Amino acid sequence: MKSYVLDSLVKYHCFNCNSEFILSEYREKQAKKVNCPYCQNEDVEAYVYARDEELLNGLGCLAIAHHEDPGEEKYVYEMTWGRIEREREKYENRRDFKA
Ligand SMILES: [Zn+2]
Repeated sequence: MKSYVLDSLVKYHCFNCNSEFILSEYREKQAKKVNCPYCQNEDVEAYVYARDEELLNGLGCLAIAHHEDPGEEKYVYEMTWGRIEREREKYENRRDFKA
């Protein structure tokens, strides 16, 4: 895919539960606010930025990326998460039928 680009990563600290978590810098910029994924508190602070491609590859973070072409993004979404959504729907329908 032509428009596929690695996202820089941002490491956060949560002052409420003392946990650390990593976000894509691209997604961070899109978000209105950042909450801790563990306790949902907003008292979080970004403190490490990883922007070097070699380092990102070394961390095995190739899958944390995005497509700059929205059409390509939609296609790739359909091929992975879209299929999983349909499978989940089938499973939920089957479960409702049995209940
Ligand atoms: Zn927290």
